[in-house]
Amino acid sequence: MISIKGLYKKFGDLEVLKGIDLEVNKGEVVVVIGPSGSGKTTLLRCLNILEVPTAGTITLDGHEADFSKRVAKKEIDYFRSETGMVFQNYNLFPHKTALENVMEGPVIVKKEAKDVARKKAENLLNKVGLGDKFDFYPFQLSGGQQQRVGIARALALEPKVMLFDEPTSALDPELVGEVLQVMKDLANEGMTMVVVTHEMRFAQDAADEVIFIDNGKVVERNKPSELFTNPKEERTRQFLNLIS
Ligand code: ADP
Repeated sequence: MISIKGLYKKFGDLEVLKGIDLEVNKGEVVVVIGPSGSGKTTLLRCLNILEVPTAGTITLDGHEADFSKRVAKKEIDYFRSETGMVFQNYNLFPHKTALENVMEGPVIVKKEAKDVARKKAENLLNKVGLGDKFDFYPFQLSGGQQQRVGIARALALEPKVMLFDEPTSALDPELVGEVLQVMKDLANEGMTMVVVTHEMRFAQDAADEVIFIDNGKVVERNKPSELFTNPKEERTRQFLNLIS
């Protein structure tokens, strides 16, 4: 589903991604871990071209974007519409209800008829356990509920891949579980997912593969059962010791 080859990203003189290679198969859940500042968010943002990589290629379901050349707007639009992004701080429209937040993408981006988009948004909000909150504004919802609206909103564009950028790190601890459960349900339904998270339990339970990134490079990748109990690289071991 995703193939990343030799991906580089610079911000001015600062080289943040230094040749990332990564494959994600259809239906796989890949969890990305690593120290703060190692490039995890930048990698996710490059995957939907919110940031334009400096070099390398990304192939999404057979569509290749080659960043050594100028990438056509059509190609960028494809990547944006086929990847659903869930942000740390939800990024909901504050003046729109939960339902309107979920309808916005399909109506504005995909020009879907409002009644069709509304039905779909209702189904998605039901799916994330917010069937009784259609008309609530973000400020009337808990952080966990807002993030579940964020997930429903990303799903509304029917992406091929879901990208999660520390989706629970802004939440009070007692609200983390409800968001992780929605993510586990999605994984069980076969959604392809790339998840940046510090929730190691989630990685243990839901990831097919865990990728440890440090200083813009993939240091180690393995099944969670292997990576967490038997890391091969000293840097992985040090990181796991620090967070456990
Ligand atoms: P992580 O998600 O692993 O904490 P990030 O990808 O957010 O790491 O950041 C990696 C590095 O890139 C950091 O040093 C950060 O300051 C820098 N960086 C991220 N975004 C930008 C930007 N838009 N402009 C300049 N530097 C940035």
